[in-house]
Amino acid sequence: MTVVDAGALAAWVREFARLVHEQRDTLTQLDSAIGDADHGANLDRGMTAAVAALEATPSDDPAAVLKTVATTLIKTVGGASGPLYGTFFLRASGALAGGDGAALAAALRAGYDGVVARGKAERGDKTMLDALGPACDALDEALAAGKALDEALGAAAEAAAQGRDATEPLVARKGRASYLGERSAGHVDPGAASATLLLEAAATALAG
Ligand code: ADP
Ligand code: MG
Ligand code: MG
Repeated sequence: MTVVDAGALAAWVREFARLVHEQRDTLTQLDSAIGDADHGANLDRGMTAAVAALEATPSDDPAAVLKTVATTLIKTVGGASGPLYGTFFLRASGALAGGDGAALAAALRAGYDGVVARGKAERGDKTMLDALGPACDALDEALAAGKALDEALGAAAEAAAQGRDATEPLVARKGRASYLGERSAGHVDPGAASATLLLEAAATALAG
């Protein structure tokens, strides 16, 4: 069953870009508390460019769609999140084999593993991994239980949001926020908030 084709993935990317644009100020406010107040601007610039790149070079190849997003993010976003989200999409692109829910879950898992390898962080370090990791687990679990993709992606988005909220009390151990030490506690991690938008966009756009 092919539900996750190139068109569906492009719709996911557009929905993520729309959410990032809509929540740009919120993401920047989170980053102003424990970083340098640019996460919303960084990601909005990158995802606006990614949508433009997909429009300029449309493709029927699902892996090519994700790769275009990856290279655009790496090119246009300075800071930690550009290379990390770029790596996420690049690894997901390389791992995508098929157009069903299981193929999507494997691609997202490969993207997550790529961010771990590139950023040398782990869960609990107060980063985007705290949303991405639980989302991958929830997606795998729901699909293994025989849930339809739309329900499974809904569970993944919910797990991401819980992971995001759970970053609030944590002390950051990676990225700029870690420079604050104990003072980073008491704030939600901006990257975990944007990663939740990525999963919410998937639940909306890839519901098939
Ligand atoms: P910068 O911190 O360079 O200004 P952004 O503000 O765009 O970049 O992104 C910050 C986010 O990047 C953090 O909130 C965190 O979620 C994520 N991040 C930073 N370092 C790492 C890392 N080593 N591994 C995973 N995510 C990270
Ligand atoms: Mg920042
Ligand atoms: Mg910065």
